Amino acid sequence: MTLEANTEKFTFQAEVARILDLMAHSLYSKKEIFLRELISNASDAIDRLRFERFSRADLAEDDGEPLRIRVAYDKDARTITVSDNGVGMSRAEVIENIGTIARSGTAEFLEALSREQRGDSSLIGQFGVGFYSAFVVAERVELTTRRAGLAAGEGVRWESDGKGEYVVETVDRPDRGTTIVLHLREGEDDLLNGYRLRSIIQRYSDHISLPIVMAAEDESAQAEETTVNQASALWTRPKSELSERDYHDYYRHVSHDYTDPLAYLHSKVEGRYEYTLLLYIPSRAPYDLWVPQARQGVKLHVQRVFILEDSGELLPRYLRFVRGVIDSADLPLNVSRELLQGSRAVSHICSSAVKKVLKLLNDLARNEPDKYAVFWKEFGAVLKEGIADDPPNREEIAELLRFTSTRSAGQEADVSLQDYVDRMKEGQDKIYYLLAPTLAAATASPHLEAFRKKGVEVLLLGEAVDNWLVTGLLQEFGGKRLQSVTQGVPDFGGLEDEAEKEAASKASAEYAALLGKLKEILAGTAYDVRMSSRLTTSPACIVANEAETDFTLARRMRGSGLPSQPVLELNAEHVLVKRLNERQDDPRLADWAHVLFGQAVLTLGARIDDPASFADRLNGLLVALTEDGTTG
Ligand code: ADP
Ligand code: MG
Repeated sequence: MTLEANTEKFTFQAEVARILDLMAHSLYSKKEIFLRELISNASDAIDRLRFERFSRADLAEDDGEPLRIRVAYDKDARTITVSDNGVGMSRAEVIENIGTIARSGTAEFLEALSREQRGDSSLIGQFGVGFYSAFVVAERVELTTRRAGLAAGEGVRWESDGKGEYVVETVDRPDRGTTIVLHLREGEDDLLNGYRLRSIIQRYSDHISLPIVMAAEDESAQAEETTVNQASALWTRPKSELSERDYHDYYRHVSHDYTDPLAYLHSKVEGRYEYTLLLYIPSRAPYDLWVPQARQGVKLHVQRVFILEDSGELLPRYLRFVRGVIDSADLPLNVSRELLQGSRAVSHICSSAVKKVLKLLNDLARNEPDKYAVFWKEFGAVLKEGIADDPPNREEIAELLRFTSTRSAGQEADVSLQDYVDRMKEGQDKIYYLLAPTLAAATASPHLEAFRKKGVEVLLLGEAVDNWLVTGLLQEFGGKRLQSVTQGVPDFGGLEDEAEKEAASKASAEYAALLGKLKEILAGTAYDVRMSSRLTTSPACIVANEAETDFTLARRMRGSGLPSQPVLELNAEHVLVKRLNERQDDPRLADWAHVLFGQAVLTLGARIDDPASFADRLNGLLVALTEDGTTG
C-alpha cells in the first residue's frame, strides 16, 4: 500500500470540533481528570478483551503479558503516554469511536456545559466524551492501536491537534492494545513528574481493578515497574476495611457522576447462591433518565470479571437510576444476555437486589427525610412506574410514594399515603385525590372547595404517570379505597351530616326547572347539568360522568381538554346561580348557560372548543350590563 492510499485526512463533526474547542479553552479547573478518563477507557478496553475471549477461541491464547494499564512520561519530549493491552481498535472503529461521534451524549454535553456556565470538567465522563479531555492539556494527541485478532500489519495510527482535522493511517504494530501519547501544551510541565502522576492516579483511579503500572523513579534501577493503585475490585473487600470515601470514589467510577451518592448498600450473600451487591442511589438524575433506550446503571460481573451492562435483564426499568455492581459466583463466564433471561440464579439475585434497594430507600425515608426528599424530587416519577410494573412489590413501593396534598406546605411532595391515612378525619373512609394536567391546575381546582371547607385532605396529582398510579393499580392503601374528587356524584362517605343532605335535596327541588332549561340549551355540550355539593365559592364546575373512569378524564384533559361526558355542576349558594333561577325567562339565558359552562372548562385547566363564540357571548353580556346596569 502506498502512503497516500494509506493515509486519510478527516474533518471532525461540527459538534466534536466545538467540544474540542471547549476542552482547550474553557475547562480550566481540575485539568488532571484527563488521566482518569484515559485510564477509564483503557480499563473498559481490557474488560472487553476479557469478555470477548470467552466467546472467541482465537483471542483466548495469551501473549504471556498480564493485563495492565501503563502510564509513562518523558521530560525531554514533554509527553505523557497511557497504554493498555486491551481489545484495541480496527481502522473503522477508530474513525467511528474517536473521529466522528454520533453518540447522543454530545449535544447534551454542550448544552449542559453552556447551561451550567461552568469551567470545570465534572461533566465530561457522564456524557461519553472522555477521550477528548486529552486536549485539555495536550496540543497534539497521537493514538496507535491494534484490534485483538487482527494481524501486526493492521495497526492504526490516529493523530490530531484538535483544531478541526485528524489523520488516520494504517501502520505496523507488533502487539495488541492501544497507546495514547499526549504532547503537552506550553505551561503544563508540572505534569511531567512521577510523584504528581502517581498521586493523580491514586486520587481518581485507585478503584480500577486492573494494575496501573509506572516505571520506578530511581533511574539507576532496572526500569522496574510498580503498581500504583489498589488494583482489587472494591466490592470484594470486607466492609470493615472500606471508608465512606472509598465507596464514594468507586461510585464516581461506575456512574461517571461526580456528585456524591445519596445512599449505598454493600452486601455479600452466601447460601444457595453466592453473590455480592454494591448498589448506589445517585443524588441527581442523569441527563438520559427519560430516554427510552438509555442504558441502565448496574454492571454484572462473574467472579470479578465484567460481563455486561444491564439493559433491563437485571433490575426493572423503574429502578433504572440505581448504579453499581452485581457480582455472581453462580454463572458461567461465557454467559450471554439470552442466557441471563432464563437463569434461575439471575432471577433470584435480581429479585433480592430489588428488595434490598427498596429497603434502602425505606430506611432513607425513615432516617434521613431530607435526603429522601432529594431522592423523590429526582427519581419519584420513575419509582411510580413500579406500582404498575412490579405487582409483587407494590406495597413496599406504595409506602415510598410522596404526594403534594392540600395540606402540603407548598408544591413539595411531602405527604406519604401513611401520613394521609394517619390523619384521616373521623368518619372518612376514602383517600381522596384530584388528577389534573398540572400541579398548579390541581391546586386551584374548584373541585376542592367543599373538601377544604370540611377540612378533608386531598392528594393533588399532576404528573403524567399519575393516571396509571391511581387507576386500578393502586386502588387501595391500608384498606382504604382511593376516590377521585372530579368523578361522579361527590361521595363524602361518612363525612356528610344530615343537615347537608337535606340542603342538597332541597336545592335540587328548588332548581329543577332551571336545570331542565340549561340541559336543553347545553344539549350536545354538557352530558348533564345538576346541583353540586362540592362547591363553596365558585358558581360552577365540570366533572366527569360517573360511568367514565378518571383515567379517561385525565387523558382527554391532555388532548382536547374535556372528559367525553362532561357534567356541569352548579353551586346553589352562588349569587349568579340564584339570579338565574329567579330569571329563567331572560332572553339571554342561553348566553349565560354557555358562559357558565365555558368558565368551568377554563378552571378545569382545559380548553374551550369554540373560544370565539365564548368571547362573543361574554361580550354580549358585558354590553348589556353597561347599557342597562342589570344582568338581564
Ligand atoms: P466513552 O468512554 O464514554 O465511550 P470516550 O470519549 O471516553 O467515551 O471514548 C470513546 C470511545 O473510544 C470508547 O467508547 C471506545 O470505543 C474508544 N476508545 C477510547 N479509548 C480506547 C482504548 N484505550 N482502547 C479501545 N478503545 C478505546
Ligand atoms: Mg471514556
